[in-house]
Amino acid sequence: MTNYYQKEIETASRDEILRIQNEKIRKQVKHVYENVPYYRNLMEEKGLTPEDIQGVDDIKKLPFLSKADLRDAYPYGLLGVDLKDCVRIQSTSGTTGKRVVAFYTQPDVDLWEECCARAIVAAGGNEDDVVQVAYGYGLFTGGAGLHGGSHKVGCLTLPMSSGNTERQIQFMMDLDATILCCTPSYAAFIGESLAERGYKPEDNKLKAGIFGAEPWTEEMRQSIQKSLGIKAYDIYGLTETSGPGVAFECEAQSGMHINEDHFYAEIIDPDTGEVLPEGSKGELVFTALDKEAFPLLRYRTRDICVLTREKCPCGRTHVKMSKPMGRSDDMLIIRGVNVFPSQIETVLLNEGYTPNYQIEIGRKNNTDTLDIYVEADPTKISDKIADIQDMENGLASAMRTMLGIGPKIHLVPPKTITRSEGKAVRVIDNRKLHD
Ligand code: ADP
Ligand code: ZN
Repeated sequence: MTNYYQKEIETASRDEILRIQNEKIRKQVKHVYENVPYYRNLMEEKGLTPEDIQGVDDIKKLPFLSKADLRDAYPYGLLGVDLKDCVRIQSTSGTTGKRVVAFYTQPDVDLWEECCARAIVAAGGNEDDVVQVAYGYGLFTGGAGLHGGSHKVGCLTLPMSSGNTERQIQFMMDLDATILCCTPSYAAFIGESLAERGYKPEDNKLKAGIFGAEPWTEEMRQSIQKSLGIKAYDIYGLTETSGPGVAFECEAQSGMHINEDHFYAEIIDPDTGEVLPEGSKGELVFTALDKEAFPLLRYRTRDICVLTREKCPCGRTHVKMSKPMGRSDDMLIIRGVNVFPSQIETVLLNEGYTPNYQIEIGRKNNTDTLDIYVEADPTKISDKIADIQDMENGLASAMRTMLGIGPKIHLVPPKTITRSEGKAVRVIDNRKLHD
């Protein structure tokens, strides 16, 4: 039986969701226009006043906000309330440049934690669960979001933060953790570490994992599910829109429901800014419908995905987003060919390798080079150089089929690639194309 945290809204009819969105957007645009001069200027440049936005159909008239705007307006320029009404600051992990700071009022925190609570219940969580939060605590939103969500559901919360894998395992086993929350790369590392200590997947009490904050493939999901003996659910979010929980996976494990009563989603063509019809692949854009302190309208996430309103067996009616392939700026252009690290991960796992890899891009004689470092499988290690070369060539050829360009594969001894406790850094680009 499916459980919901807020059944009424999570399963509301499309008409009802639209009605709520239309009502909220009118209020929100007025709030932003009156309280955020930075955005009012952008609206004025387009000749817009709040009266021009009567419902979500009019959202496409509004100007976009991008990461560059957040940098321009840093730190207080997009604040929608007095600082004294804010109760929290969080910040991005700075994966792609200068950090962004986001502000929250108490209702903003509540709304965010409720979104995370929906995710936990969708993953099968209830007050009997012990939730091990192994996302980083601090400025990063991962720890705080899932922690708050776990409290709201009434789970017993284990605020581990990331790292100290020895202690993670000890507490997981001693305190019978049932739900693990962390990045997928850290989940894979915890699974590997459990096996090394002689634990089998059935030895732990975990039933589910809620993993996000970085791109991960279906193959990675299968691998984590196997190593931990759980169901692994995706969760998505970004600091600019609150944090994790903007979208979450249900039992169908086929895309994440976006909490549409709080966030209006659009898919646009990243080059032209044109809104694309449902089912098209493009850049995800969010409008926060009721956030007070950091009320971003039409924020360009740079994450590339697809939206679908196909009926979901779980009964939730909110639109689903596909796994982001990575952000538009994660896309590598190597010898003119577009390559996403996730494609490399897919090939590696399909070919029986571990998800521990490092991608290095360089330039030699004016040509891009692609080197992929992969750990050899300890059970298949050979002393013969010819065998190693065969394995490397086999993998390089599988990569060429998938990517359209051939990388140089380097098999390295097991455990030599640094494990990630938070967001994994998979790519080293030595070309210095950007600053
Ligand atoms: P930073 O931009 O510094 O990494 P955040 O910590 O706010 O800042 O991370 C948000 C970004 O993380 C998203 O825009 C997205 O690119 C990525 N992300 C978050 N959740 C997922 C997920 N489930 N799958 C893929 N990417 C994700
Ligand atoms: Zn569903």
